[in-house]
Amino acid sequence: MGNEDNQTRADFFLYKLFAKHTSLVSSQSFHPRIPHPLSTTSRMHRVIFHVDMDAFFASVEQRDFPQYRGKPVIVGSAPDKRGVICAASYEARRFGIHSAMPSRTAGKLCPHGIFVRPRMEAYREESRAIMAIFEAYTPLIQQVSVDEAYLDLSSCVQKASGPDEALRSALPLARDIKERIQTERRLTASIGVGANKFLAKIGSDFQKPNGLTLIPESEKIMFLRPLSVRTIHGVGPVTAQQLEAAGLRTIGDIQNSKLPLETLVGSWAERLRQRAFGEDDRSLDLERERKSISAEHTFAVDTEERQVLRAALKEMSADIAQTLARNAAGALTVQVKVRYRDFSTVTRQVRVQDPVTAAAEIYRLSCHLLARDKLVSGALRLLGIGVSTLVEPWVAQMRLAFAGEKTEG
Ligand SMILES: [Mg+2]
Repeated sequence: MGNEDNQTRADFFLYKLFAKHTSLVSSQSFHPRIPHPLSTTSRMHRVIFHVDMDAFFASVEQRDFPQYRGKPVIVGSAPDKRGVICAASYEARRFGIHSAMPSRTAGKLCPHGIFVRPRMEAYREESRAIMAIFEAYTPLIQQVSVDEAYLDLSSCVQKASGPDEALRSALPLARDIKERIQTERRLTASIGVGANKFLAKIGSDFQKPNGLTLIPESEKIMFLRPLSVRTIHGVGPVTAQQLEAAGLRTIGDIQNSKLPLETLVGSWAERLRQRAFGEDDRSLDLERERKSISAEHTFAVDTEERQVLRAALKEMSADIAQTLARNAAGALTVQVKVRYRDFSTVTRQVRVQDPVTAAAEIYRLSCHLLARDKLVSGALRLLGIGVSTLVEPWVAQMRLAFAGEKTEG
């Protein structure tokens, strides 16, 4: 890390609110009130929280079974069985274990790990209790997965004279939510506070576990600068490599870049530039249930090169597997979508018997669909994968994996 980086890192501590010590540290000492030149009372100031439970399934296990505390707890399939990990405690993460990883790999990395069968009903019940806490603060809640939600608190802070003051005046609410989760549920959450979903999400990831990070509007551009381009949701390894090959490693590099990003990332360019400057006008999606998960990749240059297509498929498969794991879901339908040079679009899907959870399976089925119907008959503009008919794979899988073991009713 270079010196200029160290300087920026040091500045970062201004933003970190160590929630563990909230009773000792007042936000004012971290956020001296800056008079805002544009006092806009007529404008609606947006205040979005992203609340993310820390290692949720594993933390519930550690709470309910004290003998697991301080130990590497790995929730998912048994290490000698087919299937994936859906959560790992922080102790297990030190061994390189992460969600969506095949259980066999996890078993090799952490042979002494405590592998536990997911108790989906317990997690769902816990999730309901946590969402009920949120409902005491706002009706505008987008539940992203069992343990993650966006909350829109804009209407609570409309007396604020500017966007930063609006965000800061919502901090006591964020502390309150954290405290209630801790005292009532004996679990910890990390919260990001920002003027949009993108910033709130970056904030909750920034200081985990048990973090609270506010990204002021007036400082968001500086805040984002040192972060890797990979922090931007949607920038997977393939896109990141394309950007990095062009010398764009950090979000700051994108901010400074005079390159036409369109030649690098195609139709993504505009959104990428907006995110780099901390802009995101997506509203909360208040629909409760998730019925499908998909990913798409638009190529900067139309291509039929197998290596490029395979790389894109791998990246999208990994993305989807991550989302499935976060939702503790598997899919019975896998679909591919291709768009040709003339914009004609074709989709093909396959239905499987056993729910698909792992990236490798999604990848294999997508390749199978492309090959079976010879879909790559010319250069592609776009390639996409979707999964649907979401089910809980654990019920079926675990019955096999833990056969003979006593199950709690
Ligand atoms: Mg989480």
